[in-house]
Amino acid sequence: VEVNLVPMRGVEEEWLGLVIVLHDITAIRRLEKVRSEFVANVSHELKTPVAAVKGFAETLLAGAMNDPEIAKSFLQIIYDESERLNRLIGDILELSKVESKRVPLLFSPVHLNSFVRKTLDMMQSSAVKKDISLDMQVDPELYMEADEDRLRQIMINLLSNGINYTPEGGKVKVQVEEVAAAGDGGEDKIRITISDTGIGIPKKDLPRIFERFYRVDKARSRSSGGTGLGLSIVKHLVELHKGSIRVESDIGLGSKFILELPVIHS
Ligand code: ADP
Repeated sequence: VEVNLVPMRGVEEEWLGLVIVLHDITAIRRLEKVRSEFVANVSHELKTPVAAVKGFAETLLAGAMNDPEIAKSFLQIIYDESERLNRLIGDILELSKVESKRVPLLFSPVHLNSFVRKTLDMMQSSAVKKDISLDMQVDPELYMEADEDRLRQIMINLLSNGINYTPEGGKVKVQVEEVAAAGDGGEDKIRITISDTGIGIPKKDLPRIFERFYRVDKARSRSSGGTGLGLSIVKHLVELHKGSIRVESDIGLGSKFILELPVIHS
């Protein structure tokens, strides 16, 4: 609590009393804490690839350049780490945009069957590399109102996670259905379920995976090119659509991300 004391005096400067103002600054402090933790996380995440680029460039300059084999492998590392930096900066900017709600959504009717088909086509090449099959089950009658580009961004994030965290030969599936409103006055919803037959997420980590930079296994996320920001961006985009997202998972069996979005935005 922040306390301000303001003395009250009359026209003749006589003492009238004291006004005590109490400000509850818990929310402000909490925000400050969240912000400074975020800055610390961002700095840490950026430092790792920068240190790698610097270190390998230094070693090249100090003489490693003379061995073409070594030089090539070091340059590849420098290239990969710069790519990681690029992705990180892109995701950090994107997160800051969606968090501050600076993304005007452009709603239009989306035909879900063709939308999902096109999105899966975009993911096909990375799925094929791991011999993962992509399936869909979407009623051809279904439409919803959404910002199609943002909805695609949500799907791509969840599908790439599905592919990244599923071993070779597995399955990733998209299922879309309409769910009737519960009770009177509610609105009908579209439920999109993205499931995989992957490594799963331990129960204790489930409540935290939508947090910024939270990863179950840092090394695994890094090696698949993850930034740890995908799911927090997804969550914000879903909330901008006035929807919700939840996850169910069994270790070793797979994960299921369930989105529920209003059919119509009035
Ligand atoms: P990342 O860039 O690390 O994939 P995300 O924000 O997309 O970051 O996901 C956060 C973490 O949640 C991941 O690091 C991973 O541990 C876990 N995760 C996300 N999706 C899945 C999935 N489909 N199967 C298993 N683990 C997942």
